[in-house]
Amino acid sequence: MLILERNSELKIHLDRIRAESRQIGFIPTMGALHAGHISLINESKKQGLFTVCSIFVNPTQFNDKKDLEHYPRTPDQDIEMLRQSGCDALFMPSTEEIYPKEDTRIFNFGELETLLEGSHRPGHFNGVAKVVSILFDKVQPNVAFFGSKDYQQVMVIQALVKQLNLPIKIVPCSIIREPDGLAMSSRNKRLNKEEREAAKLIPLLLNESKVLFKAQKPISEIKAFIASKLAQKTIYKLEYFEICGSDDLHILTNKNEVKEGIALIACFVGKIRLIDNLILD
Ligand code: AMP
Repeated sequence: MLILERNSELKIHLDRIRAESRQIGFIPTMGALHAGHISLINESKKQGLFTVCSIFVNPTQFNDKKDLEHYPRTPDQDIEMLRQSGCDALFMPSTEEIYPKEDTRIFNFGELETLLEGSHRPGHFNGVAKVVSILFDKVQPNVAFFGSKDYQQVMVIQALVKQLNLPIKIVPCSIIREPDGLAMSSRNKRLNKEEREAAKLIPLLLNESKVLFKAQKPISEIKAFIASKLAQKTIYKLEYFEICGSDDLHILTNKNEVKEGIALIACFVGKIRLIDNLILD
C-alpha cells in the first residue's frame, strides 16, 4: 500500500493510475479505523477500483474544540488494518497540505443545515463540505463511499457534488454494528466500561421505535417513549430523537406522510456523543 503525505506525491501516483485507465474509489476518514471503515474499503475493492483512503482529522468540522483535542488517533493500527484490507493507497496529509490558507467558503445546503446534526452542531456540515470538496479535488475519484451511519452527511455530500457539478458517484454503505447492536464509531473507543454497557440501549431503542412505527403508533408517542427511557438514567443526555422521511429528512408528524421513515438519534452517553439511525420502512 502506498502511503502518501504530500499533495504532489498523491497527484503523481493518481495521474499514473488514470493514465492506465483505471477507475479510482475514495474513502475519506478521520482515522481510528474500525470494521465500519473497512467495509467501505471492501465495497470499493469489490467494484474493482483503485482504492484510496484518506485519514485527516478535519479541524473545521469540530464545533467543540475539546472533541477535536480528544479525537482518538491510532495511525499505526490504522495503517496495519488498511494494509490487510487490500487498500491501494493511503493519503495522510498535514493540516497545512489541506488548508495552506484559511478556507472561508460558506456553503448553502438549505434545510439540511437547520435540522438534526445541522442544528445541534453549527458549522459542522460547512466544515465537512470544505474538507470533502478539497479532498475530492485532490483525489478526483470516480466513486466515493460514505457510511449511512452519518445519514445526513451522505445527503450533504450528495448536495455538494450536485452544487459543484462534480462527476463523482456517491455510494452510501450500510451501518456496521458491534454484536450487541451498537453502531461502530471511532468515538466508542472513548467510552469507559460503564458507558459502553449503557450505549447498547441506543440501538435497542431504535429497534423499539421501528416496532412502534410499524404498529402505527402516533409519532409523538414514540418520541415520548424514547425520551422517557433515556431519562431513567443520568448517564444519558438525549440531544434529539426524530422520525423523518428518508428521502429529504423532513420531520414527520404522521407515518402516512412518506413511503419510508427513518429514526435518527443523537445522545450523550457520559461525555461521549453518539449518533445512530435506523430505516423504519
Ligand atoms: P469518520 O472517520 O467517522 O469520519 O468516518 C469515515 C466514514 O466511515 C464515513 O463515511 C462514515 O459514515 C463511515 N462510517 C463510520 N462508522 C461506520 C459504521 N459503523 N458503519 C459504516 N460506515 C461507517
